[in-house]
Amino acid sequence: MSLLRRFIVLLCGTDPGLRRMLQYWVATAVLYTACIVLLLVQVERGITAPAAAGRLIAFNGCGALAFCVLVRAGARLGLAPDQLAVSQAIFSLVCGMWLYAISGPMRAAVLLMTVVILVFCMFAARPRQTMLLSIGALVCAGGLMWWLQDSDPASFPPLTEAITFSYLASALLATAVLSGEMHKLRSRLKSQRHELSEALDTIRVLATVDDLTSLVNRRHMHEVLAAEERRQASDPASGRPSCIALLDIDFFKQVNDQFGHAVGDAVLRGFSAEARAALRVNDVLARWGGEEFLLLLPDTAPEDARMVLERMAERVSVMTVPGLNGRRISFSAGLATRQLGEPFSDAIQRADKALYQAKEAGRDRIVLA
Ligand code: GH3
Ligand code: MG
Ligand code: MG
Repeated sequence: MSLLRRFIVLLCGTDPGLRRMLQYWVATAVLYTACIVLLLVQVERGITAPAAAGRLIAFNGCGALAFCVLVRAGARLGLAPDQLAVSQAIFSLVCGMWLYAISGPMRAAVLLMTVVILVFCMFAARPRQTMLLSIGALVCAGGLMWWLQDSDPASFPPLTEAITFSYLASALLATAVLSGEMHKLRSRLKSQRHELSEALDTIRVLATVDDLTSLVNRRHMHEVLAAEERRQASDPASGRPSCIALLDIDFFKQVNDQFGHAVGDAVLRGFSAEARAALRVNDVLARWGGEEFLLLLPDTAPEDARMVLERMAERVSVMTVPGLNGRRISFSAGLATRQLGEPFSDAIQRADKALYQAKEAGRDRIVLA
């Protein structure tokens, strides 16, 4: 990790939620800085008293630093992000009101900041909290304006204060309503994203799994074999030959004809479950088509592969399928070794020939190619 990256991680952590909160804090700090610069211009032009400006700048600076620490340590202190956002908004609103009181004839422009603060809340706080903050800001601004025009009507003419207050009320209420709409939009987006990810999971399963037997389907088995070829090609020294077996249920057409297609389907499901139970962890069994199955046994000698197939045949022969009236199910298998570097398609061809020989020799047996 580069030194700069390490420094950023130390400063901002790795949690995306925390990073977002810190980004909001940086945006707020930029806004404070802009306000402080403007306030200094006001001081320089004799609009605002230097002592009053100094007190506000000190209050604002301490508050901003305190919030930076609180956001960074919020998780450890058990502070929820929305709680922090609301506290930060209250602090900003107090600073805004204070700035209003000391900004002389420029004060109406300062109220724009109040709206900006509430827009910030739309992203970090809940709509109810934003609504309460808007009402709170309005009540405080109303109280402040009343007090200012009452105590110093020459600097704060009552009519000007009343009209300014009305503009502020309209802007804040509109912001609160917009916040509610925005929240609905975000909730809808969130649920759509969730539905989309569920649909993707379903598509992934449909593309890789056979729906009758729940085994790997033929399409996905091609990918498994290609991945296995790549794995061995990338590390030829460590690999051992693999085995491939083609399995075909014996006299399956008779099962369908005698007991019906539904029982035939049940046999396919039962066969798959029993066959899978006989496999080792790395073996992969796929439904290759109809009542034919392809088995991949990675890094396996033919004697071991034969043992797996015999175990499988034993399980299948004693399985019970409802509606089959105790009829015994067997399969024939052609087994082939895939030499290192050889394409799997060649080994499958040999396994297919061996399967044909197993059928010719009377079925219910395993033939090694
Ligand atoms: P063999 O011992 O030579 O393999 O004979 P078989 O009867 O098993 O083979 P055949 O190829 O003659 O018949 C396979 C049958 O499998 C024909 C087809 O209708 C049936 N089949 C293929 N897919 C399905 C399926 O999904 N469900 C059911 N119930 N039957 C299927
Ligand atoms: Mg068959
Ligand atoms: Mg067949």
